[in-house]
Amino acid sequence: MKLTIYFPLLSTLRRWRRQERWTREQLQERQTEALRRLREYAYAHSPFYRRFHRGLEGRPLHELPVLTKATMMENFDGLVTDRAIHLTDVESHLTTLSGNERFLGRYWVNGTSGSTGRRGLFLFNHSEWVTVLASFIRAYEWLEGPSSLPPRKSIVAIVSPTPWHMSRRAGVTLETRWAPAYRLFASDPLETMVLRLNVWQPQILGAYPSIARMLANEQLAGRLSIAPKYVFTGAEVLTVDTRRHIEAAWGEGRVFDVYGATEGGVIAAECVHHSGLHLFEDQVIFEVVDQDNRPVPPGKYGEKLLITVLFNRTQPLIRYELSDSVRLSDRQCSCGRTFALITNVQGRMEDILRFPAAAGGEVVINPVIFDQIMDRVPAGEWQVVQETDGVRILLSGTPESFSDERLEDDLRRALMAEGVLVPPIRVHRVPAIPRSVTGKAPLIKSNLPHKSPAPDALSS
Ligand SMILES: [Zn+2]
Repeated sequence: MKLTIYFPLLSTLRRWRRQERWTREQLQERQTEALRRLREYAYAHSPFYRRFHRGLEGRPLHELPVLTKATMMENFDGLVTDRAIHLTDVESHLTTLSGNERFLGRYWVNGTSGSTGRRGLFLFNHSEWVTVLASFIRAYEWLEGPSSLPPRKSIVAIVSPTPWHMSRRAGVTLETRWAPAYRLFASDPLETMVLRLNVWQPQILGAYPSIARMLANEQLAGRLSIAPKYVFTGAEVLTVDTRRHIEAAWGEGRVFDVYGATEGGVIAAECVHHSGLHLFEDQVIFEVVDQDNRPVPPGKYGEKLLITVLFNRTQPLIRYELSDSVRLSDRQCSCGRTFALITNVQGRMEDILRFPAAAGGEVVINPVIFDQIMDRVPAGEWQVVQETDGVRILLSGTPESFSDERLEDDLRRALMAEGVLVPPIRVHRVPAIPRSVTGKAPLIKSNLPHKSPAPDALSS
C-alpha cells in the first residue's frame, strides 16, 4: 500500500472514532450539512441531477425521487460529475482489469456481479476510495481497538474471483498492511481452501456465510483445524442457524456480520456486543422504506433500503435503492456508539418469492419461512430455487439417511399454511451448490422471468 493511501486512511479512521461518539443531535446536524453540500455539488456538476431534481432543489430528502440502478446506468454519463467519464470507456477498462489499475489514472471502478440483471458500476476518486477502504477496517477496529493493526499473515479473506468486485479491489489496494496477504477465491474447490487454511492458520477469517458454514462443517468433521479469533461474514444473508453453526466450530461470539454495498463500501457492522449491525450513519443516510418508498418504523422489516452516500462526489447517489430488506432496532447499544442498529439483513427483494395464492392473487413468502425449515437440515449446504414449474431444493453434503420426502412435506405444509397454491417441490442432491460469477450461493433464488430491478449491494 502506498503512503498516499496509508496516511489519509489513518486520519480518516481517527476522525471516525470521534464521530461515533456524537450525540444523535450532532449526527443529524452533520448529516443535514453533508447532504446540503452533496446536493449543491450534484446540481452544479451533474446534468442528470439537475434534470432529475428539477423544481425540488429546496425540498427535503424524503420528497426527492428514488434512484434505481436501471435509471443510474441509463443516465451514467450525465450522472457522474466528471465529463471525461463515459460508460463505454469504463466498461472496456473493466475488461482489462487485473490489479490496482485506475480508470483515467484516477478512478477505482467497482462493479456488482450483474447475475440477475445489468451490472452496476461505481467509481471512486482517491479520497473516496480511502473512505471505502477505511470502512472495511472500521469493522475490525471496533473489535481490536485502533492501535492494534492486524498482523498480515493471520488474515485470510475468501473473496470474489472477479477483479472488479469491491472485496477484491479493496484487498489489492490495502495489500501489505491490512489486507490478506493470503487470499482465496470463493470459487476455489473446498479441498483447496481446507488445505491452504490448515497451513496458513488465520486468526481472522472473512468469507460469505455459505462458505464459512461449509468450512465450519469441515472443522467439525476434523478435516479443517484452525482457530480464528474472528470470523467476518458478509455479502449474503447470515441466518441464525448459520451463525450457530460457525460458532459451534470456532466458539461463541466469534462471528461478526458486516453489511457491504458496492455503492459505498461497508455500511454497517457488528460491535463486540452483537446487538445488531450499527449503520455507518456518518457516511450514509439510510431510509428503511416499504414498496412505495414510505418510511417503515423500527421493529418492522422494510422492503427496500434507500441510501444517500454522503462522501461520493464522482458519482453522487441520492436516495439510491437497494433491494435489501432490513429491520431497524429501537434498542441502544451499550457500546456507546450512537449509530442506529439494524437487527439483521433479512435478504434482498429477490429472496422474497411470490407464489400464486390458493384463494387467488399472490402470496409473498419471506426468506424466514424457508430458513426455519431448511436450517434444520443436517450439515451441508442448501438452496431453494423457484422455477416456472415448481420449487427445486438443492442439498449438498446431507447424509444419505436424511429423508428428502419428509423435507418436501414440511415445506409443502409451511407454504400451504401461508396460503400458497403449492407447486411441485422436489429435493435434488448435488455435489455442490452452484455459485455465481462472484462466487456467491444465495440461499433462495428465483429463476422466474425477472420483474424488479437487479440488486446492487455486494450481496448481489
Ligand atoms: Zn455497539
